[in-house]
Amino acid sequence: MKEFKAITLDGREVSLKGTEVNALKAKLKGQLITPEDPDYEATRRVFNAFIDRRPALIVQPADATDVVRTVDLACEKGLLLTIRGGGHSVAGHAVADGAVMLDLSNLKAAEVDPRARTIKAQPGLRLGEFDARTQQFDLATTMGTVSDTGIAGLTLGGGIGWLMRKYGLACDNLLEAEVVTADGRVRRASEAENPDLFWALRGAGHNFGVVTELTYQLHPVGPAVFGGLILYPLSQAKQVLRSYRDYVAGMPDEFNVFAACLTSPEGVPVVGLAMCHCGPVDEGRRLAEPLAKFMRPLMDMTGPMPYVQVQRMIDDAAPFGARHYWKSSVIGDLSDGAIDVITDLCGRFSSPRSIVLIQPLGGAMGRVDPAATAFAHRSGFLVSIIGMWLEGPADNHRDWVREMHRGLEPFSTGGAYVNDEADSGEAAVRTAYGVNYERLARLKGKYDPDNLFRVNQNIRPWA
Ligand SMILES: Cc1cc2nc3c(=O)[nH]c(=O)nc-3n(C[C@H](O)[C@H](O)[C@H](O)COP(=O)(O)OP(=O)(O)OC[C@H]3O[C@@H](n4cnc5c(N)ncnc54)[C@H](O)[C@@H]3O)c2cc1C
Repeated sequence: MKEFKAITLDGREVSLKGTEVNALKAKLKGQLITPEDPDYEATRRVFNAFIDRRPALIVQPADATDVVRTVDLACEKGLLLTIRGGGHSVAGHAVADGAVMLDLSNLKAAEVDPRARTIKAQPGLRLGEFDARTQQFDLATTMGTVSDTGIAGLTLGGGIGWLMRKYGLACDNLLEAEVVTADGRVRRASEAENPDLFWALRGAGHNFGVVTELTYQLHPVGPAVFGGLILYPLSQAKQVLRSYRDYVAGMPDEFNVFAACLTSPEGVPVVGLAMCHCGPVDEGRRLAEPLAKFMRPLMDMTGPMPYVQVQRMIDDAAPFGARHYWKSSVIGDLSDGAIDVITDLCGRFSSPRSIVLIQPLGGAMGRVDPAATAFAHRSGFLVSIIGMWLEGPADNHRDWVREMHRGLEPFSTGGAYVNDEADSGEAAVRTAYGVNYERLARLKGKYDPDNLFRVNQNIRPWA
């Protein structure tokens, strides 16, 4: 086996001897993929097609011991290490040039305990796979809204979805995690064991180790819920969004309605209201009625449907292979001023694929103290500015996203969602972790003093 060029934590290029790579391979129960292997090209690809990076090696562990061996090698040689769950990070944090990539996507075991209403899940599961397992027992917990996303990256950054106003964020439902930390130890983290690490994992988990198992609380949901989509012409967006703001102020926790400005598959600019009611279907139908009467909708595609269908209903809006640049802003209220900024810029989307998504926070997630977990921004509205295009450079799409983000600054609480950020500088990281930043920096100093886990929204360790 020949030599492999790798990058160290301090950015130097080093050679890994074939014998060293062979020695790792011999110790692994899982796979080791080098740039010479036929699987390399497909495995290095991530969801955001704008990310085109070439890791030195890809390790696909079979278990936590394989993860420990890989972390040990990275520490011993000082190598750059990345972790891939579902590969959905818009910033492309799953992969880096010259790094050792730990690709967890084959770790897909899951075990539901229907009596305790819990699931132990491995980090390679995608949301669609997770929902399929839990819905066998008419159970669910908060996950995101695009079924191809990985459960681990989503949960460790927070995890926003339809059920969050009733049951909290995905990370609020995390009961326990198994983590390989930078010292190569396999630790358990829960309220009872390593509670400080458990606190950090729930919102800033990408920074603290490789999570090899997640145990979640589940709740009775479905199998049928009331959900779907109502579309209005974008020309009516100001009025629709004002009515939407007033509506969500009185919405019960069981109901969640997102608003989005986008272009329909037929090429029509629209404002959409997407919804899921996780209680009785008839109650959902009754609650949804006013949403179709704000103005005259172009389309009303709401009704009873399987929960797993709601969890996939916006998949087509974000196909694999598109290019992405995203930013987010938490705004205190969806004021007329904020609506004006959003609707004016959506009148000149840089691409028909781009979307502005508005999600009401609060409810159960909002009743958790911002300092109770690492996830700080729990009230107001999350505005995700999703620049998406199919071909060509990022420039005008990036400019459009940044212009919208700047426009929303006067309305912002100073918060952002760590999982929605394409930029990774110190300022973006402080914004994302808010009041919890200093405690996180101290815990990073305790659990990862050399900043091994740095390809993420990185928290610099404090001594
Ligand atoms: C189309 C699309 C839709 C989305 N919708 C939602 C949504 O509805 N709700 C929401 O909350 N978010 C959503 N997101 C954001 C999503 O939560 C983040 O992109 C998340 O990080 C993806 O996790 P992943 O495992 O797929 O990604 P990856 O790119 O594999 O990983 C993302 C980050 O998590 C780290 N990581 C992954 N696995 C582990 C692990 N086991 N241990 C430690 N660190 C790990 C990686 O190192 C990286 O820093 C969406 C993103 C996209 C692109």
